Amino acid sequence: MNEFFIRKKIIKISRLMNQSGINQGTSGNISARVKNGILITPSSIPYNVMSERDLLKIDFDGNLLPSQLRRKHNRIPSSEWRLHTDILSSRHEVNAVVHCHSINATAIACLEKNIPSIHYMVGMAGGENIRCAPYATFGTSELSASVVEALKDRYACLLGHHGQITIGSNLDKAFELAIEVETLASIFIKACQIEHPKCLGKEEIKKVIKKFNEIDYGKN
Ligand SMILES: [Zn+2]
Repeated sequence: MNEFFIRKKIIKISRLMNQSGINQGTSGNISARVKNGILITPSSIPYNVMSERDLLKIDFDGNLLPSQLRRKHNRIPSSEWRLHTDILSSRHEVNAVVHCHSINATAIACLEKNIPSIHYMVGMAGGENIRCAPYATFGTSELSASVVEALKDRYACLLGHHGQITIGSNLDKAFELAIEVETLASIFIKACQIEHPKCLGKEEIKKVIKKFNEIDYGKN
């Protein structure tokens, strides 16, 4: 996929993120792997006015890379750029990262709890739970280390007292999973209001993941 197409896709998914209700205002950020680095959404620009030219191309140390499409502007990369570069440099099969502050997933993250296997779709994130990474200040290497660890063998995790993050082989997969994480968080909260829900367990989720892979459903 060429860089121009990836830029268009990032803009489309940025807007969908807020329209779908899984993000609010200018919080959240999106990135995708390109040649020699990543494309990432800028800091503090509302998604409804953000254009392909506002996206920044950076290397894995956060340095701006030359880009024909970049306007002469004072845009700076998202304050969470390190989270994106650290994930993309540690996971070579991953090409896209979606981070948002969806209400229900963030509510569970504020309790520092994982989303357990209460529903088979938890398997879409790659394992028997969706872990919650311990809190660290936004934009720090402590936060990205904590998130990289929570994403081990997974495609999604919660960020303690912060939000959720999903990764995928492409932007569509990462976005689809972000919607699913929010749905699962909402189901978990509702079920807990009735009584403490039972979990399906590791073996059942393994079976589910095998079936997902056979039918290419939720496969990253
Ligand atoms: Zn955030």
